[in-house]
Amino acid sequence: MKGAPFATGYDGAMRYVSTRAQDPTQTASFTEILLEGLAPDGGLYLPAEYPQVDRATLDDWRTTLNTQGYAALAHKVVSLYIDDIPGSDLLGICQRAYTEEKFGTPDIVPTTRLSNDLFIGHLSNGPSAAFKDMAMQLLGELFAYELGRQGRSLNILGATSGDTGSSAEYAMMGKPGVRVFMLTPAGRMTPFQQAQMFSIQDPAIINMAVDGVFDDCQDIVKSIGQDAAFKAKYSIGAVNSINWARVLAQVVYYVALWIRCTDEATQKVSFSVPTGNFGNILAGHVARMMGVPIDRLILATNENNVLEDFFKTGLYKVRSREETWATSSPSMDISKASNFERFVCDMLGRDTATTAKLFGPTLSKAGSFHISEGDTQNVQPWEETVGTYGFMTGSSTHADRIATIQEIHTNFGVTIDPHTADAMRVALNQHKHVKTPIVVLETALPVKFQETIVEALGAPPVTPARFEGIEDRPRTVINIDNDPHQVRAIIEKTCAR
Ligand SMILES: *Cc1c(COP(=O)(O)O)cnc(C)c1O
Repeated sequence: MKGAPFATGYDGAMRYVSTRAQDPTQTASFTEILLEGLAPDGGLYLPAEYPQVDRATLDDWRTTLNTQGYAALAHKVVSLYIDDIPGSDLLGICQRAYTEEKFGTPDIVPTTRLSNDLFIGHLSNGPSAAFKDMAMQLLGELFAYELGRQGRSLNILGATSGDTGSSAEYAMMGKPGVRVFMLTPAGRMTPFQQAQMFSIQDPAIINMAVDGVFDDCQDIVKSIGQDAAFKAKYSIGAVNSINWARVLAQVVYYVALWIRCTDEATQKVSFSVPTGNFGNILAGHVARMMGVPIDRLILATNENNVLEDFFKTGLYKVRSREETWATSSPSMDISKASNFERFVCDMLGRDTATTAKLFGPTLSKAGSFHISEGDTQNVQPWEETVGTYGFMTGSSTHADRIATIQEIHTNFGVTIDPHTADAMRVALNQHKHVKTPIVVLETALPVKFQETIVEALGAPPVTPARFEGIEDRPRTVINIDNDPHQVRAIIEKTCAR
């Protein structure tokens, strides 16, 4: 396969390199990159090599999942990428992250079989009812462990339009040494999302509602992030989707779902993935590169189809705010895909100089690049390259989502959320071109998106017992203007307590 495997000579140690590395011998260990965001050169960290799994390993993983459960499988998978946390500690981390109590089911990621060759993989049974819990729960445990080891504390500062913020707060809540400051656009999240975040009563979780839109919140976070002195003084950190540990945590459920939908290692499955920042599907790509029997990775977008365009044409064109639509699958409303650089780097055969050029000067000057600008060798012919990596793409519209929610409800008695509907629509469209069973990834529970469900089905979705009455609970949120100074003042005051 083109683009793999990569550099060798690390003596079996797991090393991480930046996608923009000038000197690929400059590497870091897992715990060295755990608490960081971007690499110092502005790139994203990737493992220097993807560990390869053989038949015996896959069989062992199947037995592990079936006899010891998800946390034990997670431990085996992530161990391949983490060699600087003792094994027994790492097992404890996985066991605390993936409990039946938090995920409401011993399976953690259960499946629903709609037909012989169509499944739903449920990733949204965690505390915030979105798939981001799959990564964030592990990240919370890893952060607490590493901060404890270093005797440090961390103030996480972030902006959210809904799912990431609540997922991060539920993951970090109660962890010693961690505070969360989260900015939300006032009045712009769904009532359920607001209730989820603002009902948290914990002095280490500080919610702020900004008089503005999501981009304003993000700008505030960015402006504070650029103040190195403030950042250092208050030990400001992030839980961005580009954090490698989040991607790694997600690799586990691709393995688990493959096991649940097959009988043995010779069988492959495909995944249909509702995509925004390319974090979820990147984990599928990593699993596939390791040798997990994955056939196709179907990338589904909504109307904000920057990535569909790329996989069809090779042109990656970042959109402006004005060109980014607010849709009924809001967690996929992206103008650029923050994790995408990792995949492009693989596609370019780990040509980090070209990756640096395309994602650095070319993107900032032109706002776009065509993949052939950087490289003609690794990516020609284009369709074949896309096929080599298993990718297929498609997009859907609001009307498609509504129709798909109706169709799945009528045919199978299952209610899916609007993001899952995007993936389902594209999966159904591509079904005849795919020779293996398709697992559609469910990324949120319908209860989070009542309005769209009512539009589709004429009635609200069932509220799972654990969320009953959530909208009536007391709320704590600080209302602020669209002004970074107010955020700084709140951080200063809180840290002085
Ligand atoms: C974040 C999110 C997505 C998009 O996932 P990416 O990893 O950003 O591609 C899809 N659906 C839901 C419900 C989400 O919260």
